[in-house]
Amino acid sequence: MWSHSNLNFQNTSMRSRRLPMTSLMQANEARSAKRHKIETIKDSFSASEAWDRLIGYSKTGYDSITEEDKDFVLKSFGVFDRPATPGRFMIRVRVPGGILSVEQARVLADVAKRFGKDYIDITTRMQIELRYVTIEELPEALALLESVGLTSYQTGVDNFRNIIIDPLDGLAMDNIIPCVPIMNEIQAVFLKNEDWITTMPRKFNIGLSGSLTNRCNIFGQDFALALAQKDGVYGFNLFLGGRVGFLAQDANMFVTPSQAKDVFVAVASLFKTYGFRDNRNKNRLKFLIDAVGMDEFRDAIEKQLGFAMHSSGETLCAAEGGDYYGKIALKDGSFALYAAVPSGVFSGSDLADAAEVAAAQDGALRFTIEQNLIITGIRDESAALESPLFVKYPNRPSPYMANLIACAGTEHCPFGVIPNKPDAIEMGEYLAREVPITDAKMRLYWSACIKGCGIHGAGDLGFVGCKTPHNGVTVLGVDIFIGGTLSGEGGEGHLLLKGIVLEHAREYVAELMRQYRDQRIGKESLEKFIARLQVRYSNHAIGFLMRWNRLMRLQNTPDGMFSFNLKKHGGSHREIDEIFEFGTKIIHGITGTNPYDTDEPLAEEKKSYRHKAPELSEYAHILEKMVEPSPLKRSEVFTQIVVELKNLSSDQ
Ligand code: SF4
Repeated sequence: MWSHSNLNFQNTSMRSRRLPMTSLMQANEARSAKRHKIETIKDSFSASEAWDRLIGYSKTGYDSITEEDKDFVLKSFGVFDRPATPGRFMIRVRVPGGILSVEQARVLADVAKRFGKDYIDITTRMQIELRYVTIEELPEALALLESVGLTSYQTGVDNFRNIIIDPLDGLAMDNIIPCVPIMNEIQAVFLKNEDWITTMPRKFNIGLSGSLTNRCNIFGQDFALALAQKDGVYGFNLFLGGRVGFLAQDANMFVTPSQAKDVFVAVASLFKTYGFRDNRNKNRLKFLIDAVGMDEFRDAIEKQLGFAMHSSGETLCAAEGGDYYGKIALKDGSFALYAAVPSGVFSGSDLADAAEVAAAQDGALRFTIEQNLIITGIRDESAALESPLFVKYPNRPSPYMANLIACAGTEHCPFGVIPNKPDAIEMGEYLAREVPITDAKMRLYWSACIKGCGIHGAGDLGFVGCKTPHNGVTVLGVDIFIGGTLSGEGGEGHLLLKGIVLEHAREYVAELMRQYRDQRIGKESLEKFIARLQVRYSNHAIGFLMRWNRLMRLQNTPDGMFSFNLKKHGGSHREIDEIFEFGTKIIHGITGTNPYDTDEPLAEEKKSYRHKAPELSEYAHILEKMVEPSPLKRSEVFTQIVVELKNLSSDQ
């Protein structure tokens, strides 16, 4: 049990002050010359008036809705006009902590079937999106949801979004502090409260984890409380300012469960008062903290609270995250059963099936950030697994499908560049066929545009939709990222391959997966394998290997041409050295000899590999530049080689 009795807050002396509010005021003034026009819209409506307008539109019809209301105001209530489905709306339903009772699931399923073409998306914020709802149907659909305590309020635009917690909060063996009570306390501050409805400078994501394992991307939030320990007491370390591409930073503040709500209110109030309201690309909490520095911001929190806080403890929410599939033992002796929902594509009928599984065993449903479903409270596993739910959404899926995230994509989001969900599923199925692997753990996260709702930066491999030139035309593509982590205090992935033709991306990834399959140690996860790879090789080198091996496979060379050698230790990460190593290895693979076995390396008559592999003659000049003895003549960076490869007819 956690306790804060060992930490004596009464005796904690106040720290010296450096007038932190002055810094915040100055930072705010420096960005106040021009307010964004959306701020004028926000000032122009009250929540109750806007809600009345929404209900009024259901009587006057779609064409009576003003552009301003469609583009912004209705989103305050989680109602989104979707150009891809003209005249029909998406409703984003808040599911706090991803926890759904049987009764709520049944009603949600019914609403999806009656009004939403039986379609449901599970999102990366553990909530639900219903689609295809007309304005006339909205009041009834929303009223049904409200009748079981579900709401779409404040799930869009500048609001506190659905709070995420460990999907096994209160249940998992490694859960130390149950966070549902804290979540409810925090949510009660802002939900349906006029003071907080669309009054923030920008959206604000909250995450709470009282578990040893990071199963909810805790460090990707604007405001995160992550399990920590200080002087033998369990509590949380506060992390602030996460957003796409940036992890939240340690605020050097230890927070006990009883302080959590007040600390949240302090941070939210500072953001509301001093946050920037000019450039919407630079007004998340991170930018305010960057402007004044974390130390100043921390001081401001204390000033807001009226008392000093302890410095941070040891972060314990550090074990590698991701969903665990199969059957998960829980503290109370029951089990949780996992159902893989690739890309979160679900339906009302599926949800109804899930509700019946849970009802039969007195359990409940939980959604995960990886868009999967967990049914808790299972006592009779065999009976549960007979449900059609688990036929459609396997309990023990291929590892490629188990932790697959994909955002809405072009079918449902106006910002999408690629279809995304079908692309993610298609790649997962291809990899399962071509590089079958068991007992592996990997996280493939897809965003259909740079806004990053598919949290691609947190994936072992991340994909971002783009357009890319190919054979003289522009086609759909992806940028591929590598090395996002959920362990420790998390880590953002880095760009690995840019502008890869979408339909070819699976072939590149398969090359890395072959390396993973063949060189992993025991049941090593992809996260750990990549970390090991990155100790020895640069991301440029890893990307080159994927590109080269794919090319060789297209030439029907046996199982690629070379692999990384992870048995060697160290690694310089100097590309010029990596290029030499790879070139040498490729030539050795072709000829069986090292190009430097002779006194006269690569003299014309010694280039035996040209004869041994005539089909590779197209690559000869590239290989020779890779192993050129003089560094002055050798290719210096992989980018040069990639440009030359792209000019070859075989690189299609
Ligand atoms: S990442 Fe882009 S396409 Fe995907 S849901 Fe977000 S805004 Fe839409």
